[in-house]
Amino acid sequence: MQKGGINENKIKRRLIVLAVAVVFISITLCAAGVGVLHYVLRNAHEAEHIQMQIEVMEYKARILKQMNKNMKILTTFANMCQISGIVNSEEKMGQGLEAANKSSSFLSIAYISSDGWGAVNASKFGTMYDFSLEDRSEESKEAMRKAFQGENAVSKLFDSAIYQEKLFVYAVPVYDEAGEIIGVVAASDTIEIFNDIANGNTVMGGEGYVHIIDDQGNFLVRSENTLVKENMKSIFDGPYLSDDTKSITKTKLLNHESVIGEFSYNNEKCHYYIESMGFNGWNLFCANKLWGSILPLGRIIIMIGCSVFVLLSLMLFLLYFGYYKIRKNTSILLRHAYIDPVTGAKNSLRFAQDFEEFQKKHKDYSIIAINIHNFKFINDLFGNSGGDKALCYIKRVIEENIKDVEFFCRESADLFYVLMLDVDEDKLISRIEKIVNTVKKATGNAEYSYEISLYSGVAIRGDTAKALLAMQSIQRKLYTSVAVYNEELHESLRNKNNIERYMQTALQNEEFKLFLQPKFDLKNNCMVGAEALVRWQKPDGTYRYPGEFIPIFEANGFCLKLDMYMVDLVCRQLRLWIDSGVTPFPISINQSKLLFFNGNYVNDLLQVINRYRISPSLITLEILEGVAMSSLEEINHRVEELHSKGFKVSMDDFGSGYSSLNMLYQLRIDELKLDRAFLQRGAGGNENDERRKIILEHVISTAKELGIRTVAEGIETEYDKNTMKNLGCDYGQGYFYSKPVSAQDFISFYSEQA
Ligand code: C2E
Ligand code: CA
Ligand code: CA
Repeated sequence: MQKGGINENKIKRRLIVLAVAVVFISITLCAAGVGVLHYVLRNAHEAEHIQMQIEVMEYKARILKQMNKNMKILTTFANMCQISGIVNSEEKMGQGLEAANKSSSFLSIAYISSDGWGAVNASKFGTMYDFSLEDRSEESKEAMRKAFQGENAVSKLFDSAIYQEKLFVYAVPVYDEAGEIIGVVAASDTIEIFNDIANGNTVMGGEGYVHIIDDQGNFLVRSENTLVKENMKSIFDGPYLSDDTKSITKTKLLNHESVIGEFSYNNEKCHYYIESMGFNGWNLFCANKLWGSILPLGRIIIMIGCSVFVLLSLMLFLLYFGYYKIRKNTSILLRHAYIDPVTGAKNSLRFAQDFEEFQKKHKDYSIIAINIHNFKFINDLFGNSGGDKALCYIKRVIEENIKDVEFFCRESADLFYVLMLDVDEDKLISRIEKIVNTVKKATGNAEYSYEISLYSGVAIRGDTAKALLAMQSIQRKLYTSVAVYNEELHESLRNKNNIERYMQTALQNEEFKLFLQPKFDLKNNCMVGAEALVRWQKPDGTYRYPGEFIPIFEANGFCLKLDMYMVDLVCRQLRLWIDSGVTPFPISINQSKLLFFNGNYVNDLLQVINRYRISPSLITLEILEGVAMSSLEEINHRVEELHSKGFKVSMDDFGSGYSSLNMLYQLRIDELKLDRAFLQRGAGGNENDERRKIILEHVISTAKELGIRTVAEGIETEYDKNTMKNLGCDYGQGYFYSKPVSAQDFISFYSEQA
């Protein structure tokens, strides 16, 4: 049986592996994607922080540049005061202040001497001379005090009542020639330079806002646009910063360090950056949404993620769809590959595969081959559909009589193989008989009218070949339903193989010998002829008898050659006798059914006898009773053909099987050989002997009436001879006269007789 092939489980397994592989790859890809995304995001955060830092620093630089410019203008003016000597005249100072104010962008510019006098020029009010430190805001005073101590100072912001806005003051010292501080020049400025901040102009690509806070976290300048919409005085107001972040931020603020932090607002993550301005405890505070500056990148990542997701979903869908399709196709394919279309049972391929799998797990099992006696006859009688119906019914009966793990198949035609778990011979036989009887009972009725009889072979722990062999051993035994494989059967198989392997060579090497058994006239004890019997003489000199090989040759067709070869040997022998002056006796030659109905048969026969120039009247062709099972018309046709050429025809083994007197009436044969069985005593006792005699008498007299000569086979004793003689039989043949002997011995025998 074929091994391997398509296997449903194999395909399933492969598909699962494929699906797992795709899922695994998908997961890996997703994980890699998440990793890359995470990496990109992390870098994006960092990039965002850096960008924020850079923008804030730029902003800081811009402000400081402006402030330095203003401070420079003021310092230049302070230096000029010393050089020009205007510090000695209030009036000149007033003019100097006016000139300086005009050429700068300050709101006002003032001088206050260490002696206490001062002057101021404001763009809005002109020059005033009663300028004193006391009238100034605390913030201005502080800056000016610092200037008196030699420092270029910038005040904190303060609300100006006059200008109604936040102002701050620059203050620088004025020195005399000896390097002593003699006064301070101060200029007030609006926070115009922070306009970008105040107006809410954005940074970070429009997503971030900058504010100015003091070192306590209080807003000094808060942008109009804020992330946090609520009104706040300090960055620490509200629940936005976590406690930890607050405390870290506070500490860093006091230490004038920059801070990076995060806070949540409306469930959105934001982050901020604080950069110290380097004076007055001022800080730039920049906040933006965490995704703000990288939004385009974020969008791209989200888009890529979505595409990957869609692609993977599509892939999985395609895989599932493919799997579904393949499964569907596979099941159709498997049905074709593994199921017998007639009965729906498994086929031999599937059985072989299942058996292979089964053997891996189990040691105890038996294989049963089941076949139908004369299935061909059922097909002839009921047509193919009737035959199929019978097969389907048998399939059902087998199915109902096997256990769960057991299985079976229809191998071909009417051959089924069943695997059973039992190994006990009696149990197996009773299980098989149950199947056989169920089928028999169901078919031998009015509906089906033909009793289907099954026969089977069992191979305990064996295989299909052994089961088949056991089954074939009872092929011709109508009333035996189970045969169990054993060593004897094995031996006979080996023998059969041997015979088949060497038959051709044996024929060429002339190992087949002609033996002759004489035939006697029962009345006068004269030899009237002989029967040719084949003997296979092996090279070692020992003999094989026809019973060993003729059935094999009949089955494989080699009889066609062998029987014609025997005709040749007989003719050769007759020619030898004739040539040596011996009057030849008629010789009977056994002819197999195959040869008897062969198209060229008669021609072939003629060729041989013509070659040896032998009269056909010397040849009697013995045909087995089994031949009579064929159409009588056909037989008679052939018999007549042979008669027309001058041959005689004898019916062999009459009474051993299916023969009937009726048949005898119709056959136009010349001779009837009564089977040895008629002379065998024992079974049935005397009463049966009597009955046999009555039948024999009847057969013999009928034959006589029809002009058919009778020959009794198996005459072993004087008693046999007399019995047959008294019953009216013409000739006798048997060990009583002679065993079959070689042609050589036959001549000596014949010479004696002569
Ligand atoms: P058969 O044609 O019925 O041949 C007679 C068989 O009975 C022969 O066995 C013979 O040896 C045996 N016999 C003869 N007298 C006696 C007796 O008194 N007692 C017993 N017990 N047996 C006796 P053999 O030679 O073994 O042949 C067996 C069968 O083989 C033949 O039966 C015949 O059917 C077949 N056969 C023999 N030679 C040929 C052949 O050349 N071609 C074919 N096709 N079949 C042959
Ligand atoms: Ca014979
Ligand atoms: Ca015979």
